[in-house]
Amino acid sequence: MTDPANRLNRLRALLAERDLDAALIVHPANRFYLSGFTADDHGPDESSGVLLIDRAGATLLTSPTNLPWAESESRVPVAGWERPWERFVGKRLRDEGTVRVGFEDAALTVASHGALMTAAGGEVALVPLGDATRSLRAVKEPAELALMAEAIRLTDDVFVAATADLQPGTSERALAWRIEREMRERGADGPAFQTIVAAGPHGARPHHAAGDRPIAAGEPIIIDMGARLGGYAADLTRTVWIGEPTPRLRAVYTVVESAQRAALGALRAGLTGKAADAIAREVITAAGHERDFGHGLGHGLGIGVHEAPSLGTTSADILSEGQVVTVEPGVYLPGWGGVRIEDVGVIEADGFRVLTGAPKTPPD
Ligand code: ZN
Ligand code: ZN
Repeated sequence: MTDPANRLNRLRALLAERDLDAALIVHPANRFYLSGFTADDHGPDESSGVLLIDRAGATLLTSPTNLPWAESESRVPVAGWERPWERFVGKRLRDEGTVRVGFEDAALTVASHGALMTAAGGEVALVPLGDATRSLRAVKEPAELALMAEAIRLTDDVFVAATADLQPGTSERALAWRIEREMRERGADGPAFQTIVAAGPHGARPHHAAGDRPIAAGEPIIIDMGARLGGYAADLTRTVWIGEPTPRLRAVYTVVESAQRAALGALRAGLTGKAADAIAREVITAAGHERDFGHGLGHGLGIGVHEAPSLGTTSADILSEGQVVTVEPGVYLPGWGGVRIEDVGVIEADGFRVLTGAPKTPPD
């Protein structure tokens, strides 16, 4: 079971620390985490609801259209707003005499902020929460871990089914569609992010939109995919090939796999995100590819596809028990392609429990 009171109380502790009377939560992932309302926003300028949390209570405010849906899902009381919502919420803050209101400055638009200030009047101060909410979702509850394990298992199965009997000439786009169709057919909410299929030279870009290029035998094919299930994202990367790999592909694959193995064996609570990254990076550097691993080792995963903590050269995070992170070293060679291998696991007191079960292509 989720523990919504505990989640709200952890946010309230943040408010108390910063001497705030309330928080206005607009980020869809935090809104879902704290209320249970699954709606997404149609864009940063079209909110599906905001959550007002004060020292004593919480209210989810949403449009009359969304109201019955929100009422069926939300664990906190729901009320309808009148548009524009900023004027409605601003007036409510003023009428309730709320003085200091924390807001997610990374998510609230400048336009919404301005409209809120105007409606709330001079007595209400909007205070940026900064990174206060960044780690709110980082440590997973047992129920969340169970959902994530399910999303990851579904994704593993989809990978196996969609890549079985892969033929030269299949386009990246066709393979991506096969993957997304399998996700839906197996009961996923949908893909958690745009599926990446990057074959041959396209694999030199860590992120890539699957296109019409036909896949050739022997070249690396990076597949980065993840189903969303019960609101939680999976994230899986495998590099595969059709037929025999070229000697270069075999060599690069071995380097990336060794780097990943080193990191998987070292992750545990107390390690910094920076140190975790360095463990994999050293293996890649020793193989002469220090300039070819241009992104961080991994990221937190949950409701968000990229969330706290981060594993990378600039990370200031210290890993703790119950956090879920990806481990995804890669080597990218312009004009040739790339290799990335990504697993997800849980940080434990004395190790790392890998949740991913998709097979890795043996290099020989
Ligand atoms: Zn990924
Ligand atoms: Zn990832």
